[in-house]
Amino acid sequence: MTSLNDPRDKFYTGQFDKQKQPYPGVQKEMTQTPDCGEETYKGTGRLSGRKALVTGGDSGIGRGAAIAYAKEGADVAINYMKDEQADAEEVKKVIEEAGQKAHLFPGDLRDETFARQLIHDAAEALGGLDTLVLNASMQQAVENFSDYTSKHLEDTYKINVVTPVMQMQEAEKIMPAGSSIIITTSIQSFAPSAHIADYAMTKAAQTNLIKSQAKHFMEKGIRLNGVAPGPIWTPLQISGGQLQDYMPEFGHDSYVGRAGQPVELAGTYVHLASEESSYTSGQVYGVTGGEPIN
Ligand code: NAD
Ligand code: MG
Repeated sequence: MTSLNDPRDKFYTGQFDKQKQPYPGVQKEMTQTPDCGEETYKGTGRLSGRKALVTGGDSGIGRGAAIAYAKEGADVAINYMKDEQADAEEVKKVIEEAGQKAHLFPGDLRDETFARQLIHDAAEALGGLDTLVLNASMQQAVENFSDYTSKHLEDTYKINVVTPVMQMQEAEKIMPAGSSIIITTSIQSFAPSAHIADYAMTKAAQTNLIKSQAKHFMEKGIRLNGVAPGPIWTPLQISGGQLQDYMPEFGHDSYVGRAGQPVELAGTYVHLASEESSYTSGQVYGVTGGEPIN
């Protein structure tokens, strides 16, 4: 039987509660829990035998990718911050229920030694590394341009730009030909909002990095692509990523008319990791709810 759903009301269409947690936020404690595919994603063995590391894999979009990878037959390592241990344990359980191995690597990606070593530690635990999702990011909204401090800007740039470059340097030493690196960039790379200007600049940098380095990585047979999400309901939004006044209507101005759920991106992460996309590199796929990326 064919199942056909109208995207406009396939997931939650109501208003979101105003809610505020300290960075980095815990998904378990959100009202209106994001759907990361725990029940809704069905795998068909498309990543059988693969070995994946997902940064920020405890919650939101990264959790959606990690769960889908496991349901498609991959063993998965995730990185997250220590305060997110409860979310990470939930992901581990779902991965194991899918019959795959899960490895947890808590640690702060502002620590360059940890960030670099993570690539090697994950590869050792997994018995290799062929899929790397650089998904962790910081987004902290400000009311006014004058609110930006150099510490704020440096943290955002460190986590979103500097760290992924350092980790790609480590990854290219060990990832075999046929591997895939996927960076989570954003619609903000193409259509920036004033209150998250620093974040939008880092997302533009990520998109640029994909374009500048795809050829270099292909010299080793490694594909490098990005996913540009639109407004997706995740802990990022309730831990400082959005101003509180925007929260109830979050995502309602997308063409679909509602916020996206992490599971709605999972298939794109699977596709870009799988050999079905063997001729795709240097690209950014928009999963924006309609808004064009250009
Ligand atoms: P999320 O909060 O679930 O994921 C972000 C993760 O980043 C956190 O779980 C955390 O583990 C990790 N992280 C942040 N700072 C870290 C640090 N210092 N050290 C280690 N890990 C750290 O939110 P999300 O929305 O799923 O975000 C995932 C990605 O999606 C991010 O790159 C974000 O920029 C991107 N994105 C999100 C949206 C959206 O609307 N939610 C839109 C476009 C792009
Ligand atoms: Mg999290």
